Amino acid sequence: MNPIGTAKEWQAILQKEYIEERLSIVTIGKNHNCSATPVKKWLDRLDFRTRGVAEALRGLKRPDEFKRAVSKGMKGVNTWMLGRKSSEETKEKCRIASTGKRHTVESKKKISMARKGIKFSETHLLALSRSHIGKNLGPDHWNWKGGAKTENMRIRRSPEYKQWRLAVFERDGFRCVGCGTVGGFLHAHHILHLAKYPEKAFDIDNGTTLCKECHAGVHPEMKNLLNPKIA
Ligand SMILES: [Zn+2]
Ligand SMILES: [Zn+2]
Repeated sequence: MNPIGTAKEWQAILQKEYIEERLSIVTIGKNHNCSATPVKKWLDRLDFRTRGVAEALRGLKRPDEFKRAVSKGMKGVNTWMLGRKSSEETKEKCRIASTGKRHTVESKKKISMARKGIKFSETHLLALSRSHIGKNLGPDHWNWKGGAKTENMRIRRSPEYKQWRLAVFERDGFRCVGCGTVGGFLHAHHILHLAKYPEKAFDIDNGTTLCKECHAGVHPEMKNLLNPKIA
């Protein structure tokens, strides 16, 4: 990735051509017989503040391209490809990459097997855990589902919950206390709701047997109760 020169030489090149002469990374690449990619890499590696698209294009002194980019609302987009054409080979690669090709079940298995042996070093694990401190956790995480709900699901998946449910059914003779239906998709309903009273989660006196229709009647807000998987 380094067709010419050392970090020191690139430092000088970038200082002169990128900062002072405000040349684009494509032009700088051309000046040094390389593509824009290594130039960009050196910019990052040497901690140069890269210009935004508008600035970069102003540096290019190519107003037509500048206008085009702005009209496309490409602010902040990496524009080194702007005005360049992909080779037929690259185009073909892109096409193949985006045709929705998926790994076969077989190859997924292989990947998963291969990954199973991978062990992170202690240093790496420590680094991972450090990198997560104070970051992107709880409510900041994109997939945060709410602590209460998670707790709820934890209870519902526990063996104690399954025992509680069975004990409630047995006590009620597998009969819906609402309509008297026996068997079928029975639910064990928490009289004091689980979300508000997790401490009553496994209290048999707090449970009652309901068929799914009667259960849906007590929780009109929970439409998914008619799904037999959720009891
Ligand atoms: Zn319920
Ligand atoms: Zn019922």
